[in-house]
Amino acid sequence: MFTTQKIIDHALSHGLIMLDNTQQLTHAPITVLPSNYPNTAFKQAQQLSQDLQQLFFTLSQQPELVISLLQPVAKIDEFTRHLLELYQTAQQHPYYQPIQLGLLRFDYLLSSTKQAKLVEINTIASSFAGLATKTTKLHQFFYPDNNIPNNHSLAQLSLGLANAWQSYQQANAVICFVVQSQENNRFDQYHIEADLWQRFKIKVIRCSLSEINQQATVNPQGKLIIKQQEVAVVYFRAGYHPNDYPTKQQWQARLLLEQSLAIKCPSLLLHLCGKKKIQQAFSQPPLLQQLTANSKALKTIEAGLVDIQVLNPSNAELALKNPDNYILKPPREGGGHNKTGQALINFVQHTPIEQYPAWILMEKIQATTYDNAVLRQNQLSPKQALISELGLFGVLLIQSNKILYQSQSGYLLRSKPINQAEGGIMAGASVLDSPNLV
Ligand code: ADP
Ligand code: MG
Repeated sequence: MFTTQKIIDHALSHGLIMLDNTQQLTHAPITVLPSNYPNTAFKQAQQLSQDLQQLFFTLSQQPELVISLLQPVAKIDEFTRHLLELYQTAQQHPYYQPIQLGLLRFDYLLSSTKQAKLVEINTIASSFAGLATKTTKLHQFFYPDNNIPNNHSLAQLSLGLANAWQSYQQANAVICFVVQSQENNRFDQYHIEADLWQRFKIKVIRCSLSEINQQATVNPQGKLIIKQQEVAVVYFRAGYHPNDYPTKQQWQARLLLEQSLAIKCPSLLLHLCGKKKIQQAFSQPPLLQQLTANSKALKTIEAGLVDIQVLNPSNAELALKNPDNYILKPPREGGGHNKTGQALINFVQHTPIEQYPAWILMEKIQATTYDNAVLRQNQLSPKQALISELGLFGVLLIQSNKILYQSQSGYLLRSKPINQAEGGIMAGASVLDSPNLV
């Protein structure tokens, strides 16, 4: 057994780091050991992600469908409405870029029957590819006898960005990471930035939406210029939450980006495809069949889904009777918004029925647990039952109606105590982990 200090030293000296809430540098929270994970479920999740990625490509070819599915939500939710309006304005612009990049992450919980079940699909700011690769390497280093699959999440995402950059065909252009002004997870992002420079000699600049509003222009040829540099690719690690748009200026910045020739990751359309309402809609048989090309893929996807419906008076009644069997989700990304148990009861009892169509009610996945010890901010907590959520990364580079490049290889495993409803690492719920395939 290795000492806690050795694990911390290794994490700190290999960039497995983040800032804490007081802006102090700390090692990223991790499990001391890798967690056992069934090989069959890992493989099942890989196949499922491939099929879902294909489904997303099909969806990206049907913007009218995406818009019509989101319209009932937009009537209630201002943020969704803004995004839809932005899309409708931007896609009519002469410099609307037909190449779209998605760095996706498909998240799964392991059900009590040891099957991977889809939690959600992230299409914007899918994070932890950088730190996940470092976590795998740390666990492989200390436990060489474990069966931990190699993890190419970092290299995969930077290659995706590099391929988009290449298709822009301008050797001097840079990639702009759109970031929150205070980002505690900046090193996860930095690893991608460093890899882009090391392997491809592509330069990265980092800007907040406010800085873009002040410093970016689109020239008469449609090129996005920031601080005198032409931008080939805009990679959003911010912009998915209303808090990223405190004033009109940030919306103006987003519109400027969308009306430029720079390739966006994600495109506004792919951003919209990641809305939880879309997941609810394609989980229903008619649409799922319409969007899925072959029967094998259809079977795989069906086996990976749990029941997910738009909130309505009758399913709300059911949820009130069994509030711990459901998760109620608003049209928000980024953690901290879901309701279950007593919070679900309070919400349903105090929310007018007109608001219901913005919310989706999802069957709670009764996840398998695995005992592990957690190391957070130099403190070791005793072994406890943890729930692991597997995220599989996918890259999808689309030009109009064809796929220019796609890949699926990297993963993120994060684990949380059973009493935690949310799954965020930055929010302090989950810690980084690695699968020991059994
Ligand atoms: P977001 O990450 O956008 O906040 P998620 O849908 O990923 O939203 O939900 C946050 C967390 O809640 C997940 O990481 C997971 O831990 C938990 N969760 C979400 N849906 C379910 C579900 N159906 N069953 C059990 N846990 C869930
Ligand atoms: Mg999530």
